[in-house]
Amino acid sequence: MTKVVHKFGGSSLSSAARYQAVANIILGQCQVGDCVVVSAAGKTTNTLVKLWQSYQQRDDNAFNDILLQVENHQNLLLTELFDAQQASALSERLKSELQSIAKDAANNVLHEASLLAHGELWSARLLANLLSTFNISAVDIDARKLFTQHQGQLLHAQNKQACLAQIKTDKIYVVTGFIASDCEGNTITLGRNGSDYSATLLANYVDADAVSIWTDTHGVFSTDPRKVSSAIKYPKVCRIQANLLARLGNPVLHAKTLSPLKETNIKLQVRSSYDPEAIGTEIVKQGYSKDKRFITTFDELDLIRVEGLLAGEVRTLSQLIQHSIHHFNKGGEDYLLVPSNDTHTVATHLQGRGNIVESHLRGLAIVAPSFEIQQLTQQAAAILEQQDVVVRFTHSDGSYALFLTDQSIDSDVLAILHDKLVNKGRELAVIIAGLGNVGEVFVEQCQKQVEKLQTTFDLKVVALVRSKEMLFCPSGINIDNWQQHWRSEAQSYQQADLLERIGELDYEHKVVIDITASDEFSGMYPSFVAHDCHLISANKYAGTAEQAWYAKLIDQLQERNLHWRYNTSVGAGLPINFALADLQNSGDTVTRIEGVFSGTLSWLCSSFDGSKPFSDLVLEAQGMGYTEPDPREDLSGRDMQRKLLILARDLGLQLDVDDIALEPLMPEHLALGDWDSFLADRASLDAFYHQRYEEAKLAGKSLRYTGALDINEQGKVSAKVGIAYVEAGSAIANLTPGDNIFVITSQWYDSNPLVIQGPGAGKEVTAAGIHSDLYWLTQKLR
Ligand code: ASP
Ligand code: MG
Repeated sequence: MTKVVHKFGGSSLSSAARYQAVANIILGQCQVGDCVVVSAAGKTTNTLVKLWQSYQQRDDNAFNDILLQVENHQNLLLTELFDAQQASALSERLKSELQSIAKDAANNVLHEASLLAHGELWSARLLANLLSTFNISAVDIDARKLFTQHQGQLLHAQNKQACLAQIKTDKIYVVTGFIASDCEGNTITLGRNGSDYSATLLANYVDADAVSIWTDTHGVFSTDPRKVSSAIKYPKVCRIQANLLARLGNPVLHAKTLSPLKETNIKLQVRSSYDPEAIGTEIVKQGYSKDKRFITTFDELDLIRVEGLLAGEVRTLSQLIQHSIHHFNKGGEDYLLVPSNDTHTVATHLQGRGNIVESHLRGLAIVAPSFEIQQLTQQAAAILEQQDVVVRFTHSDGSYALFLTDQSIDSDVLAILHDKLVNKGRELAVIIAGLGNVGEVFVEQCQKQVEKLQTTFDLKVVALVRSKEMLFCPSGINIDNWQQHWRSEAQSYQQADLLERIGELDYEHKVVIDITASDEFSGMYPSFVAHDCHLISANKYAGTAEQAWYAKLIDQLQERNLHWRYNTSVGAGLPINFALADLQNSGDTVTRIEGVFSGTLSWLCSSFDGSKPFSDLVLEAQGMGYTEPDPREDLSGRDMQRKLLILARDLGLQLDVDDIALEPLMPEHLALGDWDSFLADRASLDAFYHQRYEEAKLAGKSLRYTGALDINEQGKVSAKVGIAYVEAGSAIANLTPGDNIFVITSQWYDSNPLVIQGPGAGKEVTAAGIHSDLYWLTQKLR
């Protein structure tokens, strides 16, 4: 049984709804014996720090106000999460704790760390109680009984014993983060944001297999995703880089988090509690992942040069200010980067050995593979100069480069730096599923196309997947002779194997290209998305799936900044989806789409001239391979119905396939029975068609099989696929047999519609259309 320590930070516990979400994650992912480490709810520690400050300043009014604020916040959580009886019991306990805080304050014996500890104690108690209401056997544990520290050093052997004595395999253990005690039993804290460290320490002591740090971002990004939308979420980051980032003040991981994992095989993951299905980032041992590029920014730092820096002194200072301090040596001198707020404390401690070289600096650090640092440093310097950012100090040590500046690095400058320094030479892993007619041509075309895309993107085909076998090669398959590879290396697989291999890929971007004819395969889309894959589909399954499923998939993609293209699912390579997107993006409103979206039905209707029976044409088309094996599949109109649904959804309409009226191109009874019974009764198809053909002719019109979607001024939608008598001489009437046509009427294309016409099937154009989607994706990711 694997043992996991899950850690939930303040942002994951910021409201009753977030507590519920956390309880659900635990319900879904934890087993008895697992541990859950919690921080204080939301910004509780900050509030308690303010409480402490008001106590020190003897500001009674402020003290009472803040105390009340704390009580209200906790009570709100309690009332929203528990029934009246339980809420009131928990609220009573809280009240008595707050009373004793007030009493200690009045008696002047309040103790800082013990005060701050309440945040974590409350969240652990609350969560354990909440889990119990779900019938999960859970208990809260005060980490001061587990972690003891003496003169700044944790007593590992003793702590391990304490952990093993208290943490068994019969429950879920909810442990307070952030706090510990000293040998005299006084409370101490592990530094601000120290709960991550609590979690990895605990994992070490209880010999856990893995630690999951649940937070409010999807993992470790190349830069702050809140500032730069193209920030890349890395699936894997090695420990050395993660550690460096933490020491540079990057907020995702706390500086000490990784130390308890040294020399262990404990797996560390950063995951989003807002999106528990997503796989997040795994922090891996050195050598298990390529070095990545990052840009992390600073605000309000002072640069202090220290004379005679003592061993262990940086650590002592960090402890003192409860914040990590970056230390480096330049030209034989020791420098510290200290938050400006804490400079006074640090300078006082250094007793005249610290010289403030620069104060109130901002800036950034670039972390990258060492062979790239020099070039990136030069590029960054040039960009900063162009952007009029004044650089006061630089330092580089081979694994990172520091730029300390006057102004703070705003989102615009950060985005430019990120685009020029990080977004270059990124890797895209391509997984191609389906090697039928179109798939094979697509792979053949890849040989030329990949070379072209590689000038801007490092693109590798890492997998070829058929229904039962796959060829998976993380470093890239040589597609020039893929057949040979396939014969010698393809292996049978289950869905779970495919997902596992995808999860292991260490690429910035991944795309699954679905050229299969398999509904089952599209059922895996949500899992691909959870593994951070972009999607390209050449079939219609997912695009026409039930609205609720479809909408959820779209949400999931949006949440993760992933793209889904399915241009070839309608009109093969014809740029219909591009045209619709373009019109809408440029402010136009589409009011009507009409057309023929089936090559087979186009050929049949446009070829018919009354000289031979309709069924003869059907059999002729079948013979030439223009139809589905059973041509009634084409005559049913269902394929066009699904295509119209995709177009409707492209316009942002929420429709299901049954919302589109369907009139088949054959008498209803012919759809039943086997192929022979159809053949025996083909005369009724001929009569059916002939009658309508004559009717149209009499009216001076042409019989066509069309799909039409109308959106009226009130936004009401009507959609139908069926037989239409169209104006003679119109674009639809004049359609070349076999071609598809899309006639789009919009606010701008009103009296004279926009027409897109051409072959809407065929393996070359379809494969080329998929390449067009792939190209689009690479441009989008640049
Ligand atoms: N609650 C503590 C803090 O805010 C510890 C943590 O969040 O990890 O710093
Ligand atoms: Mg198309």
